[in-house]
Amino acid sequence: MFTVAGMVPFIPYLTGVVPAPYSRAADLQKCIRTNDIEEVGKTARHGTFFQMMGNWSFGDYFKEGAITYAWELLTSSEADGGLGFDEKDLWVTVYETDDEAADIWRRVIGLPAERIQRMGREDNYWHTGQPGPGGPDSEIFFDRGPAHGPGGGPAVDDTRFMELWNLVFMQEMLADVRSQTDFRVVGDLPQKNIDTGMGLERVAFLKQGVQNMYEIDQVRPVLDRASELSGRRYGADAGDDVRFRIIADHVRSSMMLLSDGVTPANEGRGYVLRRLMRRAVRSMRLLGVEEATFPELFTVSRDAMKENYPELETDWERISTYAYAEEDSFLRKLSAGTTILDTALEKAKDTGSSSLGGDQAFLLHDTYGFPIDLTLEIAGEAGLGVDRDAFDDLMRRQRERAKEDARSRKSSIADVSVYREFRALGETAFLGYDELTAASRVV
Ligand code: ATP
Ligand code: MG
Ligand code: MG
Ligand code: MG
Repeated sequence: MFTVAGMVPFIPYLTGVVPAPYSRAADLQKCIRTNDIEEVGKTARHGTFFQMMGNWSFGDYFKEGAITYAWELLTSSEADGGLGFDEKDLWVTVYETDDEAADIWRRVIGLPAERIQRMGREDNYWHTGQPGPGGPDSEIFFDRGPAHGPGGGPAVDDTRFMELWNLVFMQEMLADVRSQTDFRVVGDLPQKNIDTGMGLERVAFLKQGVQNMYEIDQVRPVLDRASELSGRRYGADAGDDVRFRIIADHVRSSMMLLSDGVTPANEGRGYVLRRLMRRAVRSMRLLGVEEATFPELFTVSRDAMKENYPELETDWERISTYAYAEEDSFLRKLSAGTTILDTALEKAKDTGSSSLGGDQAFLLHDTYGFPIDLTLEIAGEAGLGVDRDAFDDLMRRQRERAKEDARSRKSSIADVSVYREFRALGETAFLGYDELTAASRVV
């Protein structure tokens, strides 16, 4: 159900294997990025869920077209249907050897040379991480001003200079892809393509005049409700503020995942969902709320999102049932864990120890889903520490075991080319509601 990028279903069009039904497209993708989970609430710009707007050219317009369109949309006035950004606030990066893109920015757009920076594969080359299409890219950044950093452009500061839009010039075929920077370009694609992505939430927070993406109209109401429920004020304490933002983000991400049909589980995509919900519960707990809050928080999030995603309302029964049940079961585990933790803390004190054993903390984590920061906090309240090194060591050993398991289960990337033949069938009707033999009949 997850793909690594929005371009995945378009690969046959990008590689020219199948002619695209349209040579241009525009879209808005729902994205989940768990690799940004540690950033959530701490930076202004990283959500685990966000919406990526984009435009596509399948062998139609190329670098000059993509750059010109992007610039026009960003800098035209709102009266003219643009976003009305001030040209002086925009900076760009291009791939280190991409003279063509640098030249378009300089001469066609007229951007001053000092606001065009060059960067390497790490930042300005895009691919999926698998053999297939890729290409250099050019990114557009917004300068949030001296209050957010000393200056010098996006090459040196990605906080003050916030990335808004990535324009990918998808023109090459890659092989031996081992990492973001370690791959081989084996040739040109038969056609030159464009694939762009611009974060809706980042644009929204700049346009709505708020400080970060958790304060936009689609997210802020959840943050405010969490603040009401906890009796703590947003803006009063930096640590609490991060928790409020995590809650607002994770509640929305979980809701969108549930709405798309993911259900909580202990592995795969279901685990992504479970982890997000548990982090939200844990953050509420760290704000001092021990009761169930999802019935409040999810409803508020639904109301903030339903205008754009009406299925949240029509499918609410299913979405909310899963969400509330998951919270209840996690809260039960937490309270069982708390009893065990209290006993362990008593014991540690009785034996004159100043900290809880790493094995105890690990047991709580592993069996009761008890996050380590909660254990640390509760132990801290009892005047004890936690043997963090031993805990980390047990965690590391568990991760290695899980990796081993995954390796033995999955030997290689699945070959899905077999599905191509289905295309020859054209449109087919799904008969499975009424007939058990439908599958064999279609084949
Ligand atoms: P950053 O460097 O800020 O982490 P990125 O380079 O990882 O962003 P891309 O993979 O280029 O982002 O994605 C295209 C666009 O999607 C970005 O320019 C940004 O506007 C938006 N975006 C990316 N990650 C997030 C996120 N976690 N939350 C919100 N918007 C995001
Ligand atoms: Mg990123
Ligand atoms: Mg980036
Ligand atoms: Mg980027």
